[in-house]
Amino acid sequence: MNDAGYDVVIVGAGIVGAACAEEFARRGMRVAIVDRDFVGGGATAAGMGHIVVMDDSEAQFALTRYSQCLWQSLRADLPDEVEYEQRGTIWVAADEDEMAEVRRKHQYYRTRGVPTEVLGAVELKKLEPNLREGMVGGLLVPEDAVLYPPCAAGFLVEKAQQQGARLRLGKVMIQAGRGVVGFSDGSKITAGLIVNAGGAWAAELMPGVEIKKRKGHLVITDRYPGFLRHQLVELGYLKSAHSLSSDSVAFNVQPRKTGQVLIGSSRQYGAEHTGVDHDILNRMLSRAEQYMPGIRNLAAIRTWTGFRAATRDKLPLIGPWAGDSSLFLATGHEGLGITTSLATARLLVDQVTGARPEIPIEPYLPLRANQEHGHA
Ligand SMILES: Cc1cc2nc3c(=O)[nH]c(=O)nc-3n(C[C@H](O)[C@H](O)[C@H](O)COP(=O)(O)OP(=O)(O)OC[C@H]3O[C@@H](n4cnc5c(N)ncnc54)[C@H](O)[C@@H]3O)c2cc1C
Repeated sequence: MNDAGYDVVIVGAGIVGAACAEEFARRGMRVAIVDRDFVGGGATAAGMGHIVVMDDSEAQFALTRYSQCLWQSLRADLPDEVEYEQRGTIWVAADEDEMAEVRRKHQYYRTRGVPTEVLGAVELKKLEPNLREGMVGGLLVPEDAVLYPPCAAGFLVEKAQQQGARLRLGKVMIQAGRGVVGFSDGSKITAGLIVNAGGAWAAELMPGVEIKKRKGHLVITDRYPGFLRHQLVELGYLKSAHSLSSDSVAFNVQPRKTGQVLIGSSRQYGAEHTGVDHDILNRMLSRAEQYMPGIRNLAAIRTWTGFRAATRDKLPLIGPWAGDSSLFLATGHEGLGITTSLATARLLVDQVTGARPEIPIEPYLPLRANQEHGHA
């Protein structure tokens, strides 16, 4: 069976594809969204769901903050199962060097309109009594939130469907170009635009797209309400998240609405298998125990892995792909795709409709990667 006559077909029903489907459908376009598996089943099912403002670069800050504000404006509509909670992040400082980073970050955020509070050791201990003794302080970012990503993706796809979008599951895309998407069952969908929202598999969908898989592990515990109140992240996380080659772990823990504690996180390149790597898992858990010794007494009920879609410059690819005016990318979000999904969708649709974007789009255009690496 062939589907014809869509304005846009989105390949990938993770949180990014879901957000794009909703945004295009709301603007009155005829949308199809397709996935080989199910909605929110890729990295979206594996992610922590931390809606976080980050300041690795001005472009990263602009995208994360813009998208966080879009999540805030959607908050009233989100159903309970999305588990959206504005918990706030505390960036934990273990020594005076990290406390200097707390002050730098505070200044950076404050001058750009993001509320933050510098915490001393006593205030930090009061807010998070299960942190070990001797922490120097931290930075509270109260507007950061958490949510449950697969249900958020499901909510966005349903919204898109209510506005006329068609969902096609069990369709493995094997080819795309010149307005036609071909699937392994021999069927085709034609559309004016094709959006590659294939996450870590985006490079397999379109030759020349430069995306590397970056594997991550997470552990979830049984229910311990009150054990943890904020999303806690060590300041060393920034160093480990930035490394482009080596494996790394960092203390990064999240309280779920259920009372469960989600423990992360790890980063590995070149690890293609989906299985749990016990060496890096043990490193990750002992890092968490160094910051919160009580974690060793919590019962873990599940461990899983997922693949982040990493680009060289740590910014996503949002916009047209070279050489074929029907092809667009919405991928490469590494560890921030839950946060930045809504802004990605807005920026993509703005480009297609010619609307003025809320933030400069240039840092995210796929063209930059082409120019850098000499592709056509
Ligand atoms: C351990 C871990 C923790 C994370 N924590 C956070 C966090 O706290 N906050 C945050 O903002 N982000 C976080 N992330 C990142 C976030 O999960 C991803 O950036 C985001 O889920 C990417 O969404 P996506 O829609 O681009 O990709 P995906 O969710 O991977 O979706 C891609 C979809 O494409 C489909 N697909 C692929 N190939 C084909 C094909 N040939 N035919 C049809 N369909 C295809 C797949 O089935 C999949 O459903 C984390 C990631 C990991 C791994």
